[in-house]
Formats: sequence, structure tokens, C-alpha cells
Amino acid sequence: MSNYDVLIIGGGPGGYNAAIRAGQLGLKVACIEGRETLGGTCLNVGCMPSKALLHASELYEAATSGELNNLGIEVKPTLNLAQMMKQKDESVTALTKGIEFLFRKNKVEWIKGWGRLNGPGKVTVTLADGSVRELQAKDIVIATGSEPTPLPGVTIDNQRILDSTGALALPQVPKHLVVIGAGVIGLELGSVWRRLGSEVTVVEYLDRICPGLDNETAKTLQRTLSKQGMNFKLATKVSAAKATANGVTLDLQPAAGGAVEQLQADYVLVAIGRRPYTAGLGLETVGLATDKRGMLENQQHRSSVPGIWIIGDVTSGPMLAHKAEDEAIACIERIAGHAAEVNYEAIPGVIYTKPEVATVGKTEEQLKAEGRAYKVGKFPFTANSRAKINHEAEGFVKVLADERTDQILGVHIIGPSAGELIGEYCVALEFSASAEDIALICHPHPTRSEALRQAAMSVHGWAMQA
Ligand SMILES: Cc1cc2nc3c(=O)[nH]c(=O)nc-3n(C[C@H](O)[C@H](O)[C@H](O)COP(=O)(O)OP(=O)(O)OC[C@H]3O[C@@H](n4cnc5c(N)ncnc54)[C@H](O)[C@@H]3O)c2cc1C
Repeated sequence: MSNYDVLIIGGGPGGYNAAIRAGQLGLKVACIEGRETLGGTCLNVGCMPSKALLHASELYEAATSGELNNLGIEVKPTLNLAQMMKQKDESVTALTKGIEFLFRKNKVEWIKGWGRLNGPGKVTVTLADGSVRELQAKDIVIATGSEPTPLPGVTIDNQRILDSTGALALPQVPKHLVVIGAGVIGLELGSVWRRLGSEVTVVEYLDRICPGLDNETAKTLQRTLSKQGMNFKLATKVSAAKATANGVTLDLQPAAGGAVEQLQADYVLVAIGRRPYTAGLGLETVGLATDKRGMLENQQHRSSVPGIWIIGDVTSGPMLAHKAEDEAIACIERIAGHAAEVNYEAIPGVIYTKPEVATVGKTEEQLKAEGRAYKVGKFPFTANSRAKINHEAEGFVKVLADERTDQILGVHIIGPSAGELIGEYCVALEFSASAEDIALICHPHPTRSEALRQAAMSVHGWAMQA
């Protein structure tokens, strides 16, 4: 029986960051990961490979759409999909090896196998060769992440009917890709394949895209993606899917009920969300159970069982890598006896389409539901000189501030590099800044960040450049 201060089950952004922080704090720590590589969903089949393909496909589209020609760069591009996939895989490998390096640097032991709770303070690990190790620790952190949610009637075979992992590794460009689910993953991967030449149809049960996103921002995104050629069938449910060797026939129905229509695709991506992953974890051996959605509950990362902690996608909150990372830090600090807190009001979300969408804090709809009086400041990228000169002037920055105190409550950006720009407003929210604070801060010219300042000025009606 090996003894540790902390055992972490899962080597994704939750687990590996927890392990590194524990190592930094001098705790004896091991991270148990069953995959052959560290990094979890994020590095292996999530954030990183999707961003690799988004980046490459964006450049390809710039070359094929005439965008580069307009800049005076004449090219005749051809697609080498195998090379695009290879560079993605190489980047992923480099990143997962990077986590191995950080483990060595911080004295984290990586135990390669599948962990199972075996009573309080105990974990049994089944190693790749089938042998078993028994481990013991004062504290155990569950960071087992999530998996794609299946859709009844639509069996994922990762041949013709894909989950996100399959859609990141297609051997050919689909002629017609149907994406089921107009959430972040569906829109990002749909964008990749549309840019590479697919006709893309997004089928969504709700009557809007990206539920939870600020309404006006979501509408603008849908309009822009439609202009780019993405088709949307909203308020529509998929009731069945039949795959053959060459394609898929889908049965579609209005969400409210009605006649069935058929839609042919050569590939289908099911992207209706993700669900917590706790299979084979031995929760019953410590008296833990999941809720109806399969989630493990936590109170400041503690489970109801002393010494067992829960972080990341497997528990409540947005399923995002940086949320898992934040929880990892706070959880380990608490284990080490330090004060720590995650501010769930200031966790940004980004959609890496073109233009990007980035948001932090409350939406207008949330503020209305709370009955909180607020002011809106908006600034379009058409009035931002850097965006204009780069021919990427679609979108806006919208700042929502408390009507009485001027405190910034929410920020919604759709536009170029929105994912990078939102960081400034994350800082603003954490420091309880007012819109006036941002309006009075010098921003570099010419940058897109000037739109952030102008939107803050606009809260008080004095945006100077629009
Ligand atoms: C296509 C796609 C794109 C995404 N893009 C983004 C993005 O741009 N930005 C963002 O913030 N988020 C993104 N996400 C979400 C992000 O990947 C997750 O929120 C994040 O990975 C969650 O981290 P985690 O550590 O909780 O879980 P995971 O990353 O899922 O890691 C859990 C790990 O635990 C391991 N494990 C599970 N059970 C056991 C066990 N019993 N024993 C040993 N090991 C076990 C699993 O093998 C896995 O490696 C994306 C997801 C997908 C699918």
C-alpha cells in the first residue's frame, strides 16, 4: 500500500493543475490517469485540437475566399487535410508531453491506470498491464471530467455518426455535415468543416442558438454564421438516424410536434452537450452518489464525505477548462489549509468562431430576471480603426453596468480576438470596477482594445468615436 498526502483521479485541466499545485506546496501527490497521455479532454480531444483546426481552417478560408487576394497576396491554395490533421496531432502531443515535464518538475507521480475508490482514503488502480495497485491518501480529489451526451435514437459509431472526438479526425471533407446542437462545440466544429468546403446544417431543438448566451449577441452570431453559409434549422428535433456505409438519413420533426421530414447527410456530428463521467469510480464504497444529471455535488470543492474533494466538469458550473483549473487551485489551497475561493461570477466563456464571441458576468436577460436596474454601453467594431483597417469590423462590445453604482455587471463581445479582449473585463469584474474606471484608462492605439474603452464610455453616453 503506497501512502500519499493527496491522490488525484483524472489528469485533465482539473486534475493536472491540482497535482502541480499540490507538488508546489510540498505535498506528496500522485495523479491517476487512465488515458495514455495526460491533459484530459482539453488537450487530447477538446480545446486544443479544435483550436488547431479552427486556426488552420480560418487561414485556408482566408486564402480560398479571396480575402488574401484583396490584401494583394495572390495564392492558389489546395487543401492537404492529412497534413492539417498531422500538425494538429503533433501540437497535441507536444502539449501532453509538456504536462509530463511539469509533473517531473513539481515531483508529481503519474500513475498510469484507471482509479477506483475503495472505501474512505483508499484508491485501487488497475494499471495498463492489468495489474493492480492499492493506494492510500489523506485527501482524494475526483477530477474525472465529462463525456459527450448521447442522443436517444442516434447511435454514435464514429464512422458516419460522430461525437466531437470523431469530428476532430475525419479522413475527408464531408459534402454535407449535419450538426445536431447549436452550442459552442457544434458551432466551432461546424465552422471548421464549412471553411474546408462542407455544406453544414445545424439542427437545434431550441428556437435559438447558444442557450445562456446574451440574446442580442447570440442573434448577431447566428446572422454572421448564416452569412458565411451555415444553415440553421431551429426549433427542430432529430427523432432518428440511420447510418449506411455512405451516409446518414435523419428524421426531423418540429420541436412542438408535427410532420416528419428527412434530411440526408454524409456525416452527422452529435453535439448536444456533455455529461459528468463517473463510470467505474466506486462511489458506493464511500457512500457518494450522483444527482439526476450524473453530477457529483460539492460545497467549496468538498464532497459530503470528509477527505474527498470534487472539481471540474464532473461537478456543477460551466464545463470549461479554466473553471476546472480555478477549482483545482482553490481545492488544493484548502487541502493545504489556506484560504481560497472561486468567483463563479467572473468565469469567462469564449466561442472560437469567426468572429469570436466572449462574455463574462451577467447577460441582459439575467439582469432583467433579477430586477436589477442597469445601463448599456455599446460600441461597434465598424468604428474601431484597427478592426476596420484589418477588414474584420463585424460585431460589437456591450458593457452592462449597475444603473446606480456604475459597477460593471456583464460584458459581451462579438468581434475580432474577442477571446483575448475579454481578459481586461475579467480583471474589471474581479476588482469590482465601474464603467467609468475603464473609460478613464489609457488604451493603446490602434488596437481592438480601444473598443472596450469606448463601450465603457458609451455607458455614460460619451463614446467619442461612434
Ligand atoms: C471539442 C471540445 C472543445 C472544447 N473547447 C474548449 C475551449 O475552447 N475552452 C474551454 O475552456 N473548454 C473547452 N472544452 C471543455 C474542456 O475540455 C473541459 O471543460 C475540460 O477538459 C474539463 O477538465 P476536467 O479536468 O474536469 O476533465 P477532463 O478534461 O475530461 O479530464 C478528465 C480525465 O480523467 C480521466 N479519468 C476519468 N475517470 C478516470 C478514472 N477512474 N481513473 C483514471 N482516470 C480517469 C479521463 O481519462 C480524462 O483524461 C472543450 C471540450 C470539447 C469536447
